[in-house]
Amino acid sequence: MPDFSQLPSVEKLALALADEVSLPRPLVTGFVKRALAQWRERLEQGENADRETIEGDVLSGLRIFATSRLQPVINATGVLIHTNLGRSPLGQRASDALAQVATGYSNLEFNLLDGKRGKRAGYLETALAVLLETEAATAVNNCAAALVLSLRTLISPEKNEVIVSRGELVEIGGGFRIPEVLETSGARLVEVGATNKTHLEDYAGALTERTALILKVHRSNFYLGGFTAEPSVPELASLAREHGIPLVEDLGSGAVMNTDDLAPIDHEPTPQEALRNGIDLVIFSGDKLLGGPQAGIIAGDAGLVARIKDEPFFRAVRCDKLILTVLQECIDDYLRSKGEARPDIPVLNFLSVPLEQLQARAESIVAELGGLPARIAIVETSSQTGGGTMPRAEFPSLALEIVPEGTGLEKLTTSLRSASPAVIGYVHEDRFLLNLRTVFPSQDKALTRALRETLQ
Ligand SMILES: *Cc1c(COP(=O)(O)O)cnc(C)c1O
Repeated sequence: MPDFSQLPSVEKLALALADEVSLPRPLVTGFVKRALAQWRERLEQGENADRETIEGDVLSGLRIFATSRLQPVINATGVLIHTNLGRSPLGQRASDALAQVATGYSNLEFNLLDGKRGKRAGYLETALAVLLETEAATAVNNCAAALVLSLRTLISPEKNEVIVSRGELVEIGGGFRIPEVLETSGARLVEVGATNKTHLEDYAGALTERTALILKVHRSNFYLGGFTAEPSVPELASLAREHGIPLVEDLGSGAVMNTDDLAPIDHEPTPQEALRNGIDLVIFSGDKLLGGPQAGIIAGDAGLVARIKDEPFFRAVRCDKLILTVLQECIDDYLRSKGEARPDIPVLNFLSVPLEQLQARAESIVAELGGLPARIAIVETSSQTGGGTMPRAEFPSLALEIVPEGTGLEKLTTSLRSASPAVIGYVHEDRFLLNLRTVFPSQDKALTRALRETLQ
């Protein structure tokens, strides 16, 4: 007979733990109830535990649960587009516009001129097409959705084959693999070429009357070097055109400006270039190098974009008004900045911050931290763009190197992560680093405070 007398009462334990975390009371009660139900099962299955153990376990579970609540953090990893840390931060203008539309009503599907029903995202779609120098564009929930939607639209039961080079059958991350995406869409994958080399004849040889399209996938998170070959986009485009099938490219990051003008990194292909080279439909993420909200942008041939928008599945992956507002602001920013001012896009600003500025900030942080039991140095390091963009794009950055006296690195990183806001650094070759490139200057004070409190 299991000893249920060791199970504390839900109400008593919830009351005792409520002050440990700043969560709604009913949530603490609900959490405790669920945790104790699990303990009841464990006791039933013969596990032995005393009340103290159970209470301690529920408390540590509650603390872990509380910290999982979505909250701002300071990204001191130096990785600009960090998928675990929410990818691209928004600029001030986008966030102001978001607040305005979010807290009131809007003309989302209302025509203010004639007072009748209006076209959702009509402004954004035209602005996107103008920015990308193409016929038409639209946006959906994310790049994965954009790809599935495009494939579903462009295949039919009679024509469902999609040709992809073996060198491009990538896994983007989080279980998102190109062969599986194709399968989800109802397409039949036709692999051509070898991992390192695919020739135009490979594509040509795979074309049948069942071919729906040719898909190119940007190798965004790995680098293929050495003995390699692939046909140029214009060559592939003329092959597709000869056979009357579309050429689609999943670009992934899709920087719309030359990011290599901002930092010493490899050139990231832009959607404009892809379209100019003959891609019929380009697909990319909104929250990678574009620097906008989570979205998937589809741009190119007007007929294809119209078909995609007519597909019933479009409705299931469309953007909400908050995303549309942020994206609209972001695209307008790029359009306004053409030729002159820089768009208000934090990831682009981070990319181009000169080392001297990072040095000055690092020096003033170090000066504030004098007298603490730690060795704090300013060291040269590198930053990455991340987010499956430009895998070889490492460029110079500066970091604070912290060697605590008396505690280990593990303790230091854990306690910085429990600061408010949490500070996320990284350990590289047994050194703890806080890379300043991805820290907003307005966060320097909070970073300094967290360091002082942790090291004291
Ligand atoms: C990141 C990436 C995706 C997925 O983008 P989401 O916006 O996260 O859905 C798809 N394809 C490529 C090539 C990518 O780099």
